[in-house]
Amino acid sequence: MAKMFKFGGSSLKDAAAIRNVASILQRYKTENLVIVVSALGKTTNALEEVIMAHAKGDGTAQERFARIQEVHFSLAAELLPEGHPVFSLLNDTFVEAQWVLEEPPHPNFDYMYDQIICVGELASSRIVEAFLQHVGLETVWLDAREVIITDDIHREGWVNWEETGKRMEAKVRPLMNQPGFVLTQGFIASTLDNATTTLGREGSDYTTAIFTFCLNGESMTIWKDVPGVLTGDPRMFANVTKLDRLSYREAIEMTYYGAKVIHPKTIKPLQNKSIPLYVKSFIDPDGDGTLISSDIEDLYPPIVTLEQQQTLLSISTRDFSFVAEHHLSLLFQKIADLRLQVNIMQNSAISFSICVNHSPDKVDEFIAGIDKEFKVQREDDLELITIRHAQSDLLDNLRKGKIIFLEEHIRDTVQFVVKEVPMMSRKPNPTS
Ligand code: ADP
Ligand code: ASP
Ligand code: MG
Repeated sequence: MAKMFKFGGSSLKDAAAIRNVASILQRYKTENLVIVVSALGKTTNALEEVIMAHAKGDGTAQERFARIQEVHFSLAAELLPEGHPVFSLLNDTFVEAQWVLEEPPHPNFDYMYDQIICVGELASSRIVEAFLQHVGLETVWLDAREVIITDDIHREGWVNWEETGKRMEAKVRPLMNQPGFVLTQGFIASTLDNATTTLGREGSDYTTAIFTFCLNGESMTIWKDVPGVLTGDPRMFANVTKLDRLSYREAIEMTYYGAKVIHPKTIKPLQNKSIPLYVKSFIDPDGDGTLISSDIEDLYPPIVTLEQQQTLLSISTRDFSFVAEHHLSLLFQKIADLRLQVNIMQNSAISFSICVNHSPDKVDEFIAGIDKEFKVQREDDLELITIRHAQSDLLDNLRKGKIIFLEEHIRDTVQFVVKEVPMMSRKPNPTS
């Protein structure tokens, strides 16, 4: 049985970070490991800028892309000797995206996006593989696109589990039976026709769960810059504490509502086979981290998640008729067709409100698509705060300084859709 590891961008942000990853892996030298890596640091964001620049034709795409390549070459030069084969492998990787950039922008933006964005993971996995070999950790490199097969919805491909399962057995299982680690890329996949697709931003956790599920891994571990799953994002909230154990249910709820520490799609495949998920720190690999498993529910402290860039749409019938079943079915059909992610919904007699992730094209298309029957009031740039196992003093604190657009209580979960009150309109501070 194999253990499945995922190393994200922050664990690979520079040469020291990659050396640290290798030192963690030294501890597992004799184990059967499948390792999934993301792009280095914030490379995916930088590649998105290249893609946008190319789509707009503003003339900066080539220069931006050259900078990204340079970062990879100089990192490889820090880690590996001159003349190492990794340099020509990196060249081959980048050249494919270079060709796309030399063509006029492809009419299907999402398709073009996937053909370029994939070089982030392809290049980082080449560097990590070469470095692991260099320090004596035998590793084979696997192109994840040969095994993870999706439909052709670019940028958010849905997995074809049957085909993916078959390929895992045919292509990955034999590699696992050989000595050494198997190393592959997160986030990227392919259609049955070999066009590159991706699983959605931050999708490398999900990739690892797909490998773990299909190959019946004994456990999956995500290596992070935090000690484990915390009661809130330490970048947003003070006084957060580590959760030692979480049930799958708790984990899926908190990640769905924005706990960026794990991609929400990761939990289901693991839960379905009762495979434990560990979230551990690459800074303190001896720490216990968090164990997510099917054990009975514990008593949890309040857990706060924050989802930014939310849009609230209040939809009402133009003819003052009730928002009744046939209206709801029409609205839900549109939501499903556009794959809009709805985070909250609430209805009254003649209006129906939904809070969705900010996605300007989809929201515009949604509004245009229902315009005949419904008028829509829209508010952008909102935040969705979700508090599980809520306590009233914490709620009072979180409400401070905010305009509340929608508030919903279900058992001990409370959600607010809010906007920060601009500083100007707040009461002056009496001490200043
Ligand atoms: P990766 O390197 O795998 O891409 P990320 O930077 O995406 O890692 O995710 C780690 C970050 O997730 C942490 O630094 C932390 O700020 C954030 N985070 C958000 N919510 C939580 C939470 N509940 N517990 C721990 N970390 C959280
Ligand atoms: N590199 C991709 C991203 O930044 C996938 C991942 O890191 O999970 O979205
Ligand atoms: Mg990430």
